[in-house]
Amino acid sequence: MEKNNRDQQDQKLAEDIVKPLCDWFLKGHRQMYWRTHPQPYYVWVSEIMLQQTRVEAVRGYFDRFIQELPNLESLAHVDEDRLMKLWEGLGYYNRARNMKKAAMIVVEEYGGKMPAEYEQLLSLPGIGEYTAGAIASIAFGKPEPCVDGNVLRVWMRLVGSDEDILKASVKKKLRQILKPAMPMDCPGTFNQALMELGACVCLPSGLPKCKECPLQELCAAKKTGIETDLELARSIPYRAKNKPRKQEELTVLVCSCRGRIAVNRRSDTGLLAGMWEFPNISGKLSLEDVRMLFLEAGLIVQSVKSLGGAKHIFSHIEWHMEGYFVELPDSLESGNFVKEEDSPYGGQVRPIITEMLGRCRFETPDDLWESYSLPSAFQAYTMYLKGKE
Ligand code: SF4
Repeated sequence: MEKNNRDQQDQKLAEDIVKPLCDWFLKGHRQMYWRTHPQPYYVWVSEIMLQQTRVEAVRGYFDRFIQELPNLESLAHVDEDRLMKLWEGLGYYNRARNMKKAAMIVVEEYGGKMPAEYEQLLSLPGIGEYTAGAIASIAFGKPEPCVDGNVLRVWMRLVGSDEDILKASVKKKLRQILKPAMPMDCPGTFNQALMELGACVCLPSGLPKCKECPLQELCAAKKTGIETDLELARSIPYRAKNKPRKQEELTVLVCSCRGRIAVNRRSDTGLLAGMWEFPNISGKLSLEDVRMLFLEAGLIVQSVKSLGGAKHIFSHIEWHMEGYFVELPDSLESGNFVKEEDSPYGGQVRPIITEMLGRCRFETPDDLWESYSLPSAFQAYTMYLKGKE
C-alpha cells in the first residue's frame, strides 16, 4: 500500500516538473549546433561524444568529425585508422568503432536513414537506452525518456532518495516513472531541459544552485538545506563504493631508429583494443635495466634517456608508467629487422625484444601525428616527441 502511494507521488511529481522545466529551458539555454540542427546523425554523434566529456570540449571534436564525416554513409565507409584519428582525445575508442558498425547496418538495412523507433535504435551497436531515448525524442519527437547520471542526480534530489544510482533497477524505475509524463508535443525539449538542469544548475560537484532552479518548490533536497550543505550535496545521489582499481606498472619505450619512431598495434580485444601505442613492457624498469635488456638482446643502443614517470587512470585500471627514449642502432632496417632469422645479430635477439619490436612499424613523427591515433594514456611521452621536433 505504502509502495503504491510512493509510486503515485513519484508519478505526480514527474508530471508536475514538465511545465516549469520546459518553460525554464525555452527561456534560454546553451546553444549547441547539434541541438539547433537536430538531425538524427548529429544528435547521435554528439550524444556519444558527450558521454565522454563536457559540452565545451565536445564542440571542437564534433565540428571536426562532422566536417570529415558529414553523414551516416561517410561514417559507414571510413577507414578505421582515420576514424580513430578523428576520435583521438575522446577515449573509449570502442564507441567510435561501434558507431561505424551501426552506420553500416543503417546503410544496409535502413537505406541510410536512421530508424526513428526506440527499439530499432536500441538494437544498433553502441546505442544504449540513453542514446536511443535522445535520438528518438530530440530528432524524431518520440516520447522516450533519457536517463543518464545528470538526470538521475536531479531526480534523486527532487525526491530526496538515498537509493544507489549505480543499480540498473534504479535507472529502469526512473525511465518507467518519466515515460508516461513525457509531453507529447515536445519530448525532446523535456529531455534536454532535464539534462541542462543537471549540467548547469543541479551540479555534479559543489553545491547545487537551487535559487536558479525552476523546480525548487518541488524539491525534497532543497527543503533539507542542500544548497548550503556540501556534505549533503555529496551524499545525494548515493553511489555504492566501486571496487578499487587494479594497479599496473609499465615501462614505455619510445624507440627511435634513424628518426623513425616505433609504434605497435594492440590486440583486438581488451583495454585500448586495436589502438597504436609505444612498445612497452610490464613492470617498472630502471634506466640501467633498459640498457641491459637491449644489450642482452645484442642491440647496442646509441642512448637511453629517462622520460620520467606518468600515470593514467582508466575506469577499472590505473597505469603507472616509467618512460625511456631509446635510440636504436642506425644499422637496423625499419619494419622487419627483428625477425630472428634476418637479424643482423644472427638470431641472438632475446624473445622479449624480438616480440616487442617485431610487431612495430617505424614511422616519421609527421606520419605519426597525421595518420595514427595514440591513446591519451601515452600523452606524456607523445608530448616529449612533439617537443623534440
Ligand atoms: Fe537540484 Fe536544488 Fe533544483 Fe533540487 S532545487 S533539483 S537540489 S538545483
